Amino acid sequence: MAYTIDLSGRVALVTGASSGLGWRFAQVLAQAGAAVVLSGRRIERLKELRARIEGQGGDAHVVELDVTDTASIKAAVAHAETEMGPIDILVNNAGIAVQRKLLDATVDEFDDMFTTNVRGAFVVAQEVARRMVARSLGVTPGTWTGGRIINIASVAGLRVMPKLGVYAMSKAAVIHMTRAMAAEWGQYGINVNAICPGYIDTEMNHHYWQTESGQRLLQMLPRKRLGRPEDLDALLVLFASDNSALVNGAVLTADDGFGL
Ligand code: NDP
Repeated sequence: MAYTIDLSGRVALVTGASSGLGWRFAQVLAQAGAAVVLSGRRIERLKELRARIEGQGGDAHVVELDVTDTASIKAAVAHAETEMGPIDILVNNAGIAVQRKLLDATVDEFDDMFTTNVRGAFVVAQEVARRMVARSLGVTPGTWTGGRIINIASVAGLRVMPKLGVYAMSKAAVIHMTRAMAAEWGQYGINVNAICPGYIDTEMNHHYWQTESGQRLLQMLPRKRLGRPEDLDALLVLFASDNSALVNGAVLTADDGFGL
């Protein structure tokens, strides 16, 4: 018999579903049976993804979300739950990266990366977790085990990478945030884990791999290759499912050995 993971009946909110990893994550969760809420600022892209998921027999809903705006986060989470029901799975994926040496980084760039990658991810998780905790308190203590939060950090949060110092600092914060959330929210049946991808070819960096310096870096990677968004499918679905019941506060790298 094949080993399968079934997320039927679950509702998943994916932030930054309009491109790259989030675009893929939403499709994978839908294929596993979850109803997915697609969020981000580029609504037309999200509608395109919704059509694609629905075309494959899945269930998807679009919600506008700017993670730098707390009111937008609160409205998006409320809207998602009204339309699709309680959120069981949050994929905290929205993020930005500016490539800059530390001496050249501007305060605005610093603020942008921390406001999106750290504050945004924190407030989204907090808003979702408040609802999960309330649900856990409404049932027999210790019986609710359904909350899953997956923070998309980066191997840059574990190992400093060229010209990515400030970004690396923001992802290190996401990693520690994962542990803090896991420690505080585990008692409410919420598992919080982080995935730390290495270099994956997405909109965030696609142009860079075409440059001379991108090609040089590529040749320095252990297997001289980039990851593809689909390389994270199994990790994501595992962390989203009941099959990872004992996994809480884990920080898992998927970097092809780059961080070693
Ligand atoms: P993309 O640039 O393709 O996607 C980033 C996503 O984040 C977009 O969907 C964008 O949506 C969303 N986003 C950015 N700012 C905001 C905002 N203010 N509010 C809401 N959504 C926002 O990059 P990736 O898919 O590569 O990146 C996804 C995550 O993976 C990021 O957290 C990144 O740091 C992380 N990561 C990526 C790696 C890689 O090599 N690609 C490696 C390690 C980690 P929209 O513009 O529509 O709002």
